[in-house]
Amino acid sequence: MGNVNSKGKLQYCCTKCQKVHTRACSDLVWQLAESKQKSLGNEAHFLSTWKDSCDCGAEMSFQFRVREYPLNCLDGEDLQISGAKLLQSCNIGIKESVFLSSMKALIT
Ligand SMILES: [Zn+2]
Repeated sequence: MGNVNSKGKLQYCCTKCQKVHTRACSDLVWQLAESKQKSLGNEAHFLSTWKDSCDCGAEMSFQFRVREYPLNCLDGEDLQISGAKLLQSCNIGIKESVFLSSMKALIT
């Protein structure tokens, strides 16, 4: 199983006052939400959820889901936001698992 590699900046604006917020994607905390066996191997879902509040008092909540399938491959990403509008999303990738990178090191 790999791990989520999120880069760049997430940019969104408050739907109430239009103020623009940014968040460094490397700050997102990813948790393994789901893992299941499929024909090509393991499928893993990673989830990062957080809340933010705007200066105007509005609450914004985020749910970012990333799918890895098969191993070390990005299969999809989905960001759900309430209270804010997405302007720019993160650059999402899957970090290779240590196991696979050490295999490659042996091969080369
Ligand atoms: Zn606001």
